[in-house]
Amino acid sequence: MPELPEVETVKNELSPYVVGHRITGVTLVWEGIVKEPSVQEFCSRLIEQRITGVARRGKYLIFSLTSDEVLIIHLKMTGSLLLKPASAEPDKFIRAIIYLDKEAALHFRDPRKFGVMRLVEDKNTVVGRLGPEPMEAGFTPQLLLKRLNNRTAPIKALLCDQTFIAGIGNMYADEALFAARIHPLRSGKSLSRGEVKRLHSTIRQILSAAIGNKGASTDTYFRPDGTRGTAHFEFKVAHRRGQSCLVCGTPLERIVVRNRGTYFCPTCQPEP
Ligand SMILES: [Zn+2]
Repeated sequence: MPELPEVETVKNELSPYVVGHRITGVTLVWEGIVKEPSVQEFCSRLIEQRITGVARRGKYLIFSLTSDEVLIIHLKMTGSLLLKPASAEPDKFIRAIIYLDKEAALHFRDPRKFGVMRLVEDKNTVVGRLGPEPMEAGFTPQLLLKRLNNRTAPIKALLCDQTFIAGIGNMYADEALFAARIHPLRSGKSLSRGEVKRLHSTIRQILSAAIGNKGASTDTYFRPDGTRGTAHFEFKVAHRRGQSCLVCGTPLERIVVRNRGTYFCPTCQPEP
């Protein structure tokens, strides 16, 4: 569920509270949350490290450490990272706690237990295959056009493919396609130059507005201080099952594209 705007918000809001701080302890309430190395190695190598920076790549959070290793966290479907006083009692969905100096703690809350943590030497072993970052200067309409060339997959599936473009998931793919008036089942290569330009621009607009609104709290996503984002109040199609198009009044439709529930307006986004 957390996509680029949610993870970007977590990064921005955590940074001032964790960068420069030392990890003083790790409690794994659910050990399965650690993917690599072993649980023992993970804990012993983290303790006493200072966090030197927090970055985002796609939907991954990357904490750099004084040891030159990186702690990489993926929130997956239902994860949140909450900043708490060290004395705070964990709720029943807290899977891990990272204690920091100055009496602070980072609670990894994850009701459905899909979230993962990795401690690695080279971040590229985890994020190396990701596609371009949509908010960075290198992501141009020309690059998008080039990447769509000869792709027969539905555009909705391509936008959700992290190796095609990083950070976009179900919600923001539907929103960007609606804003660009492109049917989710159109094949990548069928988009005209003009449509690609429009889609490039709506991807940027949708993500940037959602970052401004601190992400979408449709389900279990929380900002680090425990409050909710408000991006979902601006959704035009995502999470609007059974409602009508805000532009033309046509009832929105739901289809399944490569296992993902997809919402669109059949009038504003005509069939391929
Ligand atoms: Zn419409």
